[in-house]
Amino acid sequence: MRITRKSVRRKSPAAPINAGAQTLHAYIAPVESCLIYASVRPNERPKSDLFISRRLIKILILAVMLFVLFSLFLRAGDVRSPGTEEAAALLSLDSAMPEAPPAGGAFVWYLGHCGFAVRTRNHLLIFDYQEKRDGQQSKSKPAQPSLSDGWVDPAEIAGLKVRVFVSHSHDDHFDPVIFGWREAVPDIGYYFGWRAAEDPSFHYLVGPRAELKTDGLEIATINSHHSGVPEVAWLVKADGLVIYHNGDCRPDDAISENDYLRTKTESIDLAFVFPVFEEGQKYTIQNLDFFGKFRVRAAFPMHGQAGNTRYLDFQKAMQACFPALPVHVPMAMGQKFIYEKGKIAK
Ligand SMILES: [Zn+2]
Repeated sequence: MRITRKSVRRKSPAAPINAGAQTLHAYIAPVESCLIYASVRPNERPKSDLFISRRLIKILILAVMLFVLFSLFLRAGDVRSPGTEEAAALLSLDSAMPEAPPAGGAFVWYLGHCGFAVRTRNHLLIFDYQEKRDGQQSKSKPAQPSLSDGWVDPAEIAGLKVRVFVSHSHDDHFDPVIFGWREAVPDIGYYFGWRAAEDPSFHYLVGPRAELKTDGLEIATINSHHSGVPEVAWLVKADGLVIYHNGDCRPDDAISENDYLRTKTESIDLAFVFPVFEEGQKYTIQNLDFFGKFRVRAAFPMHGQAGNTRYLDFQKAMQACFPALPVHVPMAMGQKFIYEKGKIAK
């Protein structure tokens, strides 16, 4: 189902509730006057006090029963009121879209190559999404694309607070298809590591070391250049989680860039990193410094292909250096990882 901006916004059920409240008030009035009658003119009743209180109790019971019946009637009326079709649509949308993790938790989907979607309590963060390839393997679009296949279908995420991050302009990290999501997703924001467009509604964290606090997110970047284009690595705080996405960022002085990020946090919940571990490589120095400096609760290799040996070798190499470091290898497109209580659940 396609949910448009219009249909999502027109959900306010204010009118039927107000109407109901007025009717309810009109109904309650006779019950009040009935109570006043019993209390202000008791002497006009030629019966005993006991009789009066029995009558009072009967009247009260009758009033409560009428009140309950009337409330049920009002509710039944509400169900038939015109605004509810949209409410029902929202309800079914809710059940179709990825559910929210518990507080402090996250769901992570592997979307191929460097693409990851992270569903936190209140956000869906999408990093370096593109529809071309997973490592050297071409992505092929399923009949019914969804996160669980490693694809973004804007209709599936339409009801979420979606935040899209792109590290640099190379086409294995950036795909203009992301701009089309705006049609379906009313609450969407874009964050680029370079001046990607002229649209003032986008966020351009050009840096060096750009920082941004906005709308429930805290973002810091480090920078580098490769093959002639500017690029960033992202440190994003959202809903109590700290997420790091490296893109292809390989700063000349990775150690001082990591030191800078260390001023923002000492632990990182989810880290998406470049899987280089061979001695003498700049990325290796960067990775070893990174895992030595931060307490990383779950690391994921990227920029390869689901289940390939590069990912698995990286996992082995890092766990040899850091036995307590959990490295999780995506084995299939759309693989979902459940992060809770500080680790990926089995
Ligand atoms: Zn790349």
